[in-house]
Amino acid sequence: MKSATILIVGAGFSGSVVASELASAGRRVHIIDKRSHVAGNAYDEYDEYGVLVHRYGPHIFHTNAERIFEYLSRFTEWLPYEHRVRGVVDGVPYPFPINRVTLNQLYGLDLDEVGAAEFFERVREPREPVITSEDVVLNSVGRDLYEKFFLNYTRKQWGLDPSELKAGVAARIPVRTNTDDRYFTDTFQAMPLHGYTKMFEAMLDHPNITVELGVDFANVRDRAGYGHVVYTGPIDAYFDYCYGPLPYRSLRFEHEHLPAIEQYQEVGTVNYPNDHAYTRITEFKHLTGQQHAGTSIVREYPQAEGDPYYPVPRAENEALFKRYEELAKREANVTFVGRLAQYRYYNMDQVVGAALAAAKRLTG
Ligand SMILES: Cc1cc2nc3c(=O)[nH]c(=O)nc-3n(C[C@H](O)[C@H](O)[C@H](O)COP(=O)(O)OP(=O)(O)OC[C@H]3O[C@@H](n4cnc5c(N)ncnc54)[C@H](O)[C@@H]3O)c2cc1C
Repeated sequence: MKSATILIVGAGFSGSVVASELASAGRRVHIIDKRSHVAGNAYDEYDEYGVLVHRYGPHIFHTNAERIFEYLSRFTEWLPYEHRVRGVVDGVPYPFPINRVTLNQLYGLDLDEVGAAEFFERVREPREPVITSEDVVLNSVGRDLYEKFFLNYTRKQWGLDPSELKAGVAARIPVRTNTDDRYFTDTFQAMPLHGYTKMFEAMLDHPNITVELGVDFANVRDRAGYGHVVYTGPIDAYFDYCYGPLPYRSLRFEHEHLPAIEQYQEVGTVNYPNDHAYTRITEFKHLTGQQHAGTSIVREYPQAEGDPYYPVPRAENEALFKRYEELAKREANVTFVGRLAQYRYYNMDQVVGAALAAAKRLTG
C-alpha cells in the first residue's frame, strides 16, 4: 500500500521549497540528497580557516519579485549586497557589464550618456535576425568590445563559439550608457545574513520533514510505497539516459585561502576573458561582509565532464529535452521541477518561483 509520505529527490532550492510548502500544508515529506549536505549548489560553509565560502561557486541573490524575497525572508535575515564585477583586458580591470566608464577608460574618451549611446550606435554591427549569442553582442557593442570581453570568455565558459549558442546566453548581460557598475539592477539584492545553508536548515526544520543525506535516488527508487515523488535531479538520469545524455557544462572549483591578505581584489568577482584557463576569481568576503585577517577566493575552470551545472542552451539540446519531457508527462505520480529536471537556466529566485508553483499544484 502506498504511504502518504512524499519523497523529494534533491535538497537544493527546488526540493527544499517544495518540502517546506508541503510540510506546512500538513503533508509528510522525506527528502533525500546524494550529497552529504542540503542547499544544493547554493551550499556554503566555513572553510578550515574560518571564512564563509560557497563550495559550488559564488551565489548572489537578486530578484524583482517581492513575493519571492518575502517568502525566503521567513527563513533568513538579509545582508544588503550589490555585486560588482571587473573584466580584465590587457592586464587592466574594467567595469563589467560594459558601461560608460568602461568605454571612457578603455578608449581614453570622455563620453557623456548621449555620447556613449552614439558610440555604441557607431560601432555596432546590426544583425537581423538576432539568433545566436554572437549576433546579440555584435548587434549591440560591435566587434572590438565583442573580442575583448565576450568571445574568449564564452569559448572558455561553454567550450563553444558564441555563434553556436542561442541568443539568450548573451542577452543576460546588459550594456549600459550610464555609469552604473552593479552587475544586477534588481529591486532586491541581498545575501542570507548567516549564509545559504542556515537558510535551508530553517526551511527544512519542520516536524513533517525528515532529511536523509548521502542517498542516491537510484538506490531507493524501488523502495516501495511513496505516495508521490518530487524529482529535482537530472531528467535524463531519471530515465536511464534512454535517449542519450543531455549535455551539461561543468566546472572545477579551485578554492584557495590567502592567510595574510585582508583583501585580494577590489570587487567580488574579476573576470579573465582572455587570460588563464579559469574564467573568473571570486573573493567571498565581499559577498558575505565577513571580517577576517585573511581571505578566501575561488577560481572557476569550466569543463565538459563532472557535476551537471549549466544546461547547454542549443536548439538540438532543447529538442532532446522535449523528448524526455514527454516521458515525464506520462510518469504518474512524479513531479519534475528545478534546474536539472527542467533542463533550464534558472536563477535562484526563478527556481523558488517554479518550486512554489509545483507545491501549489500538489496541495491543490
Ligand atoms: C557556478 C554557479 C553559480 C551560480 N550563481 C548564481 C547566482 O549568483 N545567482 C542565482 O540566482 N543563481 C545562481 N546559480 C543558479 C543556482 O545554483 C540554481 O538556480 C539553483 O541551485 C537551482 O536549484 P535546484 O534545486 O533546481 O538545483 P540544485 O541546487 O542543483 O539541487 C539539486 C540537488 O539534487 C541532488 N540530486 C541530483 N540527483 C540526485 C539523485 N539521483 N539522488 C539524490 N539527490 C540528487 C543534487 O545533489 C543537488 O543537491 C548558479 C549556479 C552555478 C552552477
